[in-house]
Amino acid sequence: MTTSFPHLLSPLRVGTTVLKNRVLMGSMHTGLEEAPDGYAKMAAFYAARARGGVALMVTGGISPNAQGKLGLGDGEPAFPDCADKHRVITEAVHAEGGKILLQLLHAGRYSKQADLVAPSPIRAPINSFEPRELSGAEIQQTIEDFADTTVLAAKTGYDGVELMGSEGYLVSTFLSQRTNKRADDWGGTWENRKRLFVEIVRRARQKAGADVILMARVSVLDLVQGGMTGAETMDLARSLEAAGADILNSGIGWHEARIPTIMHSVPRNAFVWATERIKEVVSIPVIASNRINTPERAEAVIASGQADMVSMARPFLADADFVAKAANGAGGEINTCIACNQACLDNIFSGRLATCMVNPRACHETELIIEPAASVKKIAVVGAGPGGMAAAATLAERGHAVTLYEAENRLGGQFNMAMAIPGKKEYGETIRYFSNRLAQLAVDIRLSTRATVAGLTDADHDAVVLASGVTPRALDIEGADHPKAMSYVDVLWHRRPVGERVAIIGAGGIGFDVAEYLTHANGLVGPDDADVDAFLAEWGIDTTLGEAGGVTASGPVMRSARQITLCQRSEARFGRSLGKSTGWAIRATLQMKGVDFLGGVTYRRIDDAGLHVTVGDEDRLIEVDSVVICAGQEPLRDLQEGLEAADLPVHLIGGADEAAELDAQRAIDQAVRLAATM
Ligand code: NAP
Ligand code: SF4
Repeated sequence: MTTSFPHLLSPLRVGTTVLKNRVLMGSMHTGLEEAPDGYAKMAAFYAARARGGVALMVTGGISPNAQGKLGLGDGEPAFPDCADKHRVITEAVHAEGGKILLQLLHAGRYSKQADLVAPSPIRAPINSFEPRELSGAEIQQTIEDFADTTVLAAKTGYDGVELMGSEGYLVSTFLSQRTNKRADDWGGTWENRKRLFVEIVRRARQKAGADVILMARVSVLDLVQGGMTGAETMDLARSLEAAGADILNSGIGWHEARIPTIMHSVPRNAFVWATERIKEVVSIPVIASNRINTPERAEAVIASGQADMVSMARPFLADADFVAKAANGAGGEINTCIACNQACLDNIFSGRLATCMVNPRACHETELIIEPAASVKKIAVVGAGPGGMAAAATLAERGHAVTLYEAENRLGGQFNMAMAIPGKKEYGETIRYFSNRLAQLAVDIRLSTRATVAGLTDADHDAVVLASGVTPRALDIEGADHPKAMSYVDVLWHRRPVGERVAIIGAGGIGFDVAEYLTHANGLVGPDDADVDAFLAEWGIDTTLGEAGGVTASGPVMRSARQITLCQRSEARFGRSLGKSTGWAIRATLQMKGVDFLGGVTYRRIDDAGLHVTVGDEDRLIEVDSVVICAGQEPLRDLQEGLEAADLPVHLIGGADEAAELDAQRAIDQAVRLAATM
């Protein structure tokens, strides 16, 4: 069969193993690792991805000894303590024709447990625990632990291991001058600093034999001051190959780096160039990683010779069948990861199970099951935002006859505004995905049609799902109707022109988004592929790799096209409602662009002079040309009462159900769970 992705889908020899294609599902910690019934669920999760055609997968990280645990609580074992339980995972993956590696990760100074260890006693800026220095004997034991665990992993059915040497965990802290201040054989010179990683690989190969895949994850860019230089990284790659590594994976950025590496504002394929540098110096295969989320972009990496394999992690939360769809010429049907981090990383950072905003079944494969409906119903879905589209698609998939009503002339609801924000263009992929799926499932889509109680009852529906969304909250102050005042919908949907000096009322997610939008001259969409250079320059990334850590001494350089004041009534920290894994970068970007954050504000009036406010005891005039109101939303559910009076069963989802803290993750999850039971 001819394919659009001949390079991506071609086999690859890794050591003594031949992989069926060049797609790796990269390591992700899902939270199932610590869940009481997690092993069966992990088996179902990985098996679904193997069935979907991924050649090779890597598990979430697990420590080869007790000291290296991440410190996730009592449920977190080191591998030697739980090896038997992993057999269900390896068997399930092999039954589906896949291969899987166990990631061995020693957390080092990122461990959140009392007895944490590091090359030198230097606390990580993202950890409150201070590490103690490993002794020489403990270092030797750590090498043995990695090697013994590799052997045990192979006995448990794993096809090999990924040895984690990046992201600021133990191994990378030995490599870097930033964190390794030792004066013995394990520190000081580069030869000494690289010794731990090289010895781990050498010993693992010696003990495990030739047929166990040894993947070494190398930090191709540390993105922290004092990290590895490019010359050191390349030498490390050569040394790992000589020590017995079969394949090198790429790590980008330590966790303490203040440069975004995977969120939506990072352009696709932004870091492939750094992987290419190590590919040039080794003959074993190398893997590119980070923000590669479509088969087209993955194919381009392999076809251009920049890497031999592509690692994607979150794209497999979004769609287990990514590879199969690409192989079958159905790339347009892939549910694309939009790099929002909302349901994966943000969930993990708040102690919840990872899942996916656009695919709530991820990590819930055993309990959120979409089966044919017992009796087919005629169901109306009102509103074609993310929640409405997900409900309509799931209902139709179950066999129901679905009509989807949308007042606007296009699908997607609020996602149409989200995709206008620079860096959030990916949100358009979700609209594309659902549009294709709804068409395929023959959902009757009525655009530009405002549903009415009479219309819905006359159409003889058995039930209505009300996903009619929200309306922006109006502001009750003098001058709210002044020509300078406008809502975020005016700006993002109707593209109303905005002046050079702007005040934004409300600093929730949308206030921040609007601020970012307005820092760009014409509110341009992007960044996309063409903007990789601009992204790297803005964040001060040294593409010559001459500087240690790959960061320029001058740091980020950002500008705003407008003078912006972002206001909130609360005196709390700005951006507290933003995602844990993305909020810091969104906030930092606006700060670097000179946006003025003004808290503790009482709004008084808008007039020709601008926005009049009181801050503390002081009355102030913010002299602006435009005032954009981003003060939250009210639910839109005016059909509910009439439909209930007509005895039509009504189900509210998304913003129509709860406008406060409305988010697409909740809307889609609620939609799919409801549709699975109707
Ligand atoms: P929001 O998060 O509720 O923020 C609205 C802000 O407006 C509030 O923080 C509030 O702050 C202020 N406000 C509320 N009532 C007001 C009033 N009567 N007068 C003046 N100010 C008022 O709502 P949103 O920004 O519209 O975002 C909606 C949802 O979209 C979010 O919850 C989020 O889930 C999602 N979203 C997230 C992101 C992201 O994470 N990057 C981006 C976009 C959207 P004060 O009371 O302190 O002034
Ligand atoms: Fe991707 Fe967002 Fe899903 Fe995470 S939650 S996998 S970032 S789409």
